[in-house]
Amino acid sequence: MTMLETDLSRLDRKTRAFLDSKHGNFIDGTGRPTAKGGTIPVYDPSSGKPISAIAAGTAEDIGSAVAAAKKALSSPAWGGLHPDERERLIHRLADLVEANAGLLAELEIIDNGMTSHFARNLNVGGSISVLRYMAGWPSKISGRTVDLGLPIPGSKYFAATVREPVGVVGAIIPWNVPLMLAIWKIAPALAAGCTIVVKPAEDACLSVLKLAELVAEAGFPPGVVNVVTGYGAEAGEALVKHPDVAKISFTGSTVTGKRIGALASGALKKVTLELGGKSPTIVFADAELDRAAAGAADLIFLNSGQVCVAGSRLFVERKALDQVVDAVSKRAASLKVGPGLDTTTEIGPLVSARQQKRVQSYVDGARLAGATLPAGGQAVDSGGYYVRPTVVVDVKPDMAVVQEEIFGPVLSVMPFDDIEEVIAMANNTVYGLAATVWTTNLKKAHMLIPRIKAGYVAINSDAVPHTALPQGGFKQSGVGKDLGAESLDGFLDTKTVLIRYD
Ligand code: NAD
Repeated sequence: MTMLETDLSRLDRKTRAFLDSKHGNFIDGTGRPTAKGGTIPVYDPSSGKPISAIAAGTAEDIGSAVAAAKKALSSPAWGGLHPDERERLIHRLADLVEANAGLLAELEIIDNGMTSHFARNLNVGGSISVLRYMAGWPSKISGRTVDLGLPIPGSKYFAATVREPVGVVGAIIPWNVPLMLAIWKIAPALAAGCTIVVKPAEDACLSVLKLAELVAEAGFPPGVVNVVTGYGAEAGEALVKHPDVAKISFTGSTVTGKRIGALASGALKKVTLELGGKSPTIVFADAELDRAAAGAADLIFLNSGQVCVAGSRLFVERKALDQVVDAVSKRAASLKVGPGLDTTTEIGPLVSARQQKRVQSYVDGARLAGATLPAGGQAVDSGGYYVRPTVVVDVKPDMAVVQEEIFGPVLSVMPFDDIEEVIAMANNTVYGLAATVWTTNLKKAHMLIPRIKAGYVAINSDAVPHTALPQGGFKQSGVGKDLGAESLDGFLDTKTVLIRYD
């Protein structure tokens, strides 16, 4: 075993037992084998060796899960539950996630490859935070009354709006932060009174299966939360197409999002799409350059670049270019590459061999096209799916490394000379998820906020998701919002009520 391989003997006994157990789907409050019995192997990304297997769920499994969710929606046990009780259940689930934080974090590390810090603090910690935030909402969801005056003399009207759960929600999530992204959908759906069927990604979903067990332990009525694992083309599409699913909440790539959007709009379903990005970090020469360079590095190397808001394009005012490139490259070269279970690791392996190959092909392509690599680029000698943190300079705006979402630890750096130029460069992408600006000049900051076409603009602080702030993209980065109070809107319908009583 090399230093780059996870020492499986260091896994907690409970994690080991979970890996060794037979995984089915979670339908109607209980674990169930998949209808056709197919399985998908689970690999340890640090070694490429198989460590477990999940069920290859089918359209039939999705059908059973949706039927259970539909039944639960109108059941007295869920549909008739007092909002206080919904709050209590969501808090109880947060308590259980907290009590099982170590196990959930280890499952994420061994399944996805993420570092211990990311798994424990941002992923599991972030999941608990979202559950607690959403637990406060059920008793505060309300409509409004509207004074219509007297449209007909002598008439009397009472007019109001009420908010109702949209119904059965289909949630499809990616592999990059499985637990947290599942909670981003599950928590507001539960707060709104919906029921949900979650289809996690085939590349990493063990934590979501463990979460399903915790849902049962928390006391949610059967059918309120269901999980069906499997491939997107089979289980995922079956969920999107199911006539009893009222809303699809999807996080994943823009290509898949477009397909799901088209399928869902054919049936006029509600859709939330949280898609890809090619987010800019903009550094002006007047910025605190050390903090800016550290922020720029953090935002692209976090979770090995496998985060939707990764700051994958860095624009630096020409006078500060050498200093910032030097600082970011030194940081990239100094990051300790290794398996996530080792708490000193700063860059873990990517999730899969496919993803590693894809990311490495962008790096090789950039070099072939004439770019220079002041950090990274060389392969890592390991059976795991590692890619070194890489900085790419001397790039042209139309290169694939600059235009396409790589979803790996690869940063393209470009100089700019004035504010109009950098605004045009930052917006020169089909994406519009997030942007970070480093400047000490308030005027420049305010000028940029309305001009950057992105769903999130952060000034002197990395544009990373926060529980209470809405998260979602402009342009081809998506439709609708996760997180914050705004995310509840996607799980609620507004009904208008008019009563004449003269
Ligand atoms: P992906 O689109 O390949 O897969 C995402 C999910 O969709 C998986 O569960 C997959 O099985 C399923 N799927 C695939 N094809 C499907 C189909 N035809 N019908 C239904 N479901 C289908 O994405 P990925 O590679 O797993 O994840 C990476 C992507 O996620 C990146 O583009 C990233 O930017 C994006 N992402 C966005 C956000 C955000 O908030 N905007 C957050 C995290 C990740």
